[in-house]
Amino acid sequence: MSTGSTPGSPARPTPRPTDQADVRRHNAALVLGCVSSSGPLSRARVAAHTGLTRATVGTIVDELLAAGLVSEQGTRSASGIGRPGTDLVLRPDGAASVGLEINVDGIVVAVVDLGGTVRHRAARSGDLRDRTAAAVLRSAAHMVDDAVAVAYDLGLPVRGIGVAVPGLVDLGEQVLRLAPNLGWTDVAVVERLRFYAVTHWPCPVVLDNEANLAALGELWRGGHLSTDSFVLVNGDVGVGAGVVLDGALHRGSRGFGGELGHLTVAPEGPDCRCGARGCLEQVAGLDFILRQAGVRDAPRTGEDAVTPLLTRLRRGDERAIAAVRQAGEALGVGVAALVNLFDVDTVVLGGVFAPLFPWLDEPLQAVVRRRVLSAAWAPLTVRPSDLGRDAAVIGAAYAPLRDLLADPLTVVEESA
Ligand SMILES: [Zn+2]
Repeated sequence: MSTGSTPGSPARPTPRPTDQADVRRHNAALVLGCVSSSGPLSRARVAAHTGLTRATVGTIVDELLAAGLVSEQGTRSASGIGRPGTDLVLRPDGAASVGLEINVDGIVVAVVDLGGTVRHRAARSGDLRDRTAAAVLRSAAHMVDDAVAVAYDLGLPVRGIGVAVPGLVDLGEQVLRLAPNLGWTDVAVVERLRFYAVTHWPCPVVLDNEANLAALGELWRGGHLSTDSFVLVNGDVGVGAGVVLDGALHRGSRGFGGELGHLTVAPEGPDCRCGARGCLEQVAGLDFILRQAGVRDAPRTGEDAVTPLLTRLRRGDERAIAAVRQAGEALGVGVAALVNLFDVDTVVLGGVFAPLFPWLDEPLQAVVRRRVLSAAWAPLTVRPSDLGRDAAVIGAAYAPLRDLLADPLTVVEESA
């Protein structure tokens, strides 16, 4: 695992192993992946699932047990004949990571264990557009410090930190190149977070775009996905998309893909903070919706920003409903473009779009039916993210754990 790893790249374990050490790493990932996805399983069944010999599985399982990544569960004798076996399960507290989301309207941290359970969550709301990158990153570093301490108190070994930001991330350099809504350019987020941290973080820190990480979070913990190809559309002040095809995140050749918010939907439309005009987020983002709905009492801060709007929607306020419908129609134009390009059958709405789903769904679907060429033969499922606004922070926590699952020997070697 390295700080330069790409959390959203396709799950890794298949490059052809070339030497003995590679074979060992590859097999360890196979065994852990098998227990993680299909456990509880006996060693014999792990061998049958993976095609490895029982002796190989036995050696690897001993290492994974010693590293605390799997545990044994009860004893059983499937046939009633022979030696009773012991089932293996993933050990949820065998590893944990810290997810950090820095967004326009606040900062969220979460400690998530290997089983995907959020063990600690803290949020600080506030319009970050009013603050400098240095001030924001200093606050964020201290929140991560606290989260690492909480994990330590819970007995959870922190194996990585994932950071979600609303902009273009240079994955190789781990630099945020541009976040138009924050007004940040070329910010070395990981380096500065480590600099501001009070404690030393003895683990990798990975940086990625929030919509990509939200899609990863959805893939991991979202549940109910009958497909492994979907687009997660994350809404806030900005709008982003994470495109997952065949279970792998597709981010483009330089990692900058998925900028749905800057898809032109009205060439002569309002100016966007990116410098262009008529971008989707100018007619579907949270600022637009609140303005159109006439919601001036909203604090513009993450957790609470949609609360006054939701109150109005629930009591049938016509102006609020019209504002969300208008955003839904604009979103439909963007989603139709994605479906025409990628033929995904599911679109998941995350961020503030999740609580607004009951009012967004119908206008969005109506536009999609009109604009998607295959609509008559290939219906589209649109649904809210089960993770709601936490998809990005959970995905951020998942990024380093996913690396660990793909190469568990890093933990085995450290604990040896
Ligand atoms: Zn734009």
